[in-house]
Amino acid sequence: MAVVIYGSELSRRLKEEMKEEIAGYLSKGMRAPRLGVILVGDNPASVSYVRGKKKAAEAVGISLKLNHMPEDTSQDELEQAITELNDDPEIDGILIQLPLPKGHGLDETKAIQLVDPGKDVDGLHPVNVGLLHSGLDGFVPCTPIGIMQILQEMGCDPDGKTAVVVGRSKLVGAPVARLLQNANATVTVCHSHTKDLKATCRNADILVAAIGRPKYFTADYIKEGAYVVDVGVNRLEDGHLCGDVDFEAAQNIAGAITPVPKGVGPMTICSLLSNTLKAYRRKL
Ligand code: NAP
Repeated sequence: MAVVIYGSELSRRLKEEMKEEIAGYLSKGMRAPRLGVILVGDNPASVSYVRGKKKAAEAVGISLKLNHMPEDTSQDELEQAITELNDDPEIDGILIQLPLPKGHGLDETKAIQLVDPGKDVDGLHPVNVGLLHSGLDGFVPCTPIGIMQILQEMGCDPDGKTAVVVGRSKLVGAPVARLLQNANATVTVCHSHTKDLKATCRNADILVAAIGRPKYFTADYIKEGAYVVDVGVNRLEDGHLCGDVDFEAAQNIAGAITPVPKGVGPMTICSLLSNTLKAYRRKL
């Protein structure tokens, strides 16, 4: 039976460490780290994600400044809001809650490029993407950081291992593949055009599933003893959440596996906090 690694547990420990570190700064009379969040519109999922981020930030001592803008915000107004956060010396990190509403001409790429790379705690600015791909220190997207911490918690050193990442998005697949390669794994990135995905996955010592298809990765995709990280979050018709991996089946084959929920999700928020703290520390 696979060892089940709960991101919820790991993130609780990491947040405890951050809380102590921040309390130390405050006791020396320093200000708290501060995260600026821009939320455009009232998409219920986005509103709920931001609420979760605010709660988690405040629990460790990071203050969050929320700019909740209306659905019909123009590109100019959005860019002005980003510039204000860039120029505010007391803002350490900036997060634009994505996706932006469609239909009002908002340009996500332009907005991301306007964020000060030194405050880009989402790690999406081309400068930070370039730093990651050069193996240099910058801001890395939050979910991939969490995935690497989960692998570490599994006792998995990627060095020399065969890793297969399924999904090539800018937010998850592409950066986690680069982190794995930087950690000396031999990495294959798969996507919707990949031929014989099953055989490729079955060869993986490390399998990262990030496609957004409920229980897609059945037992025959998984190598005996593999480290399986399930990034997918899918809502079933009955309202329950499930991952991209068929957890029950995979559990009998994998060496270690993450559940959904309580797996990668809590690590993503935790990494947002650690990136904000990193941005704050850089100014000390
Ligand atoms: P995305 O931007 O939609 O990308 C999905 C990727 O999966 C694409 O590269 C796509 O290939 C590939 N794909 C789709 N169907 C496939 C198939 N049948 N076989 C092989 N590849 C396939 O999604 P994302 O933002 O990366 O997110 C992926 C999943 O992770 C979603 O369920 C999302 O909710 C979840 N997620 C979770 C967290 C968390 O904190 N837990 C964070 C972010 C995302 P193409 O490139 O060819 O289209």
